[in-house]
Amino acid sequence: MNRHLYIDCDGVIFDSIKYAFLDMEKLGIDLQDQVAIDNYFKDANWENLLSPDKIINDSIKKINELRDSWMFLGIHVLTHVSSFYEAIYKTELIEPQIESVDVITIPRKIGKERIVNPFDNILVDDALYKVKDWINHGGIGVLFKQDVNRLIKPFEFQNDQNYFITNDLADLLEIQRILNSRRKVMSK
Ligand SMILES: [Mg+2]
Repeated sequence: MNRHLYIDCDGVIFDSIKYAFLDMEKLGIDLQDQVAIDNYFKDANWENLLSPDKIINDSIKKINELRDSWMFLGIHVLTHVSSFYEAIYKTELIEPQIESVDVITIPRKIGKERIVNPFDNILVDDALYKVKDWINHGGIGVLFKQDVNRLIKPFEFQNDQNYFITNDLADLLEIQRILNSRRKVMSK
């Protein structure tokens, strides 16, 4: 109950980005053209990108279980958006499915660590640079990667890997236990 948990939406709860890029290919959008990509997201069909079949690894159910564990001070979905419509759509879609979890929407290009306090709080995100920015501002980073099959602890792979890696939101309970036991050791 000592820290907030912030969970990204696209690429963590829903596999929306992968489908968005497949959709752009179908539409003939040049994937090297950042302006065209930005325009696609401003106008995107979020009903389609966030349809129930795109939920990753039972994420919604697992967030509900994390909330029921009472191991976090608060749980929030923290997501970048490209339009006012996207912000409303995500909020109205997700909040009724996860009671007591709020959706915080941020305009793209503003760092997540600028909107909420990262200090000693956890961010789960599939974008490595966002995880690193969070850690650089005092937060605890968890990189969500669909192609790993277990919880990887900090520094297990490389000296500069100062974040956890998982493909399963249920692992947040274990991460919280690890962090809390470290704190006890440090305060002895
Ligand atoms: Mg993401």
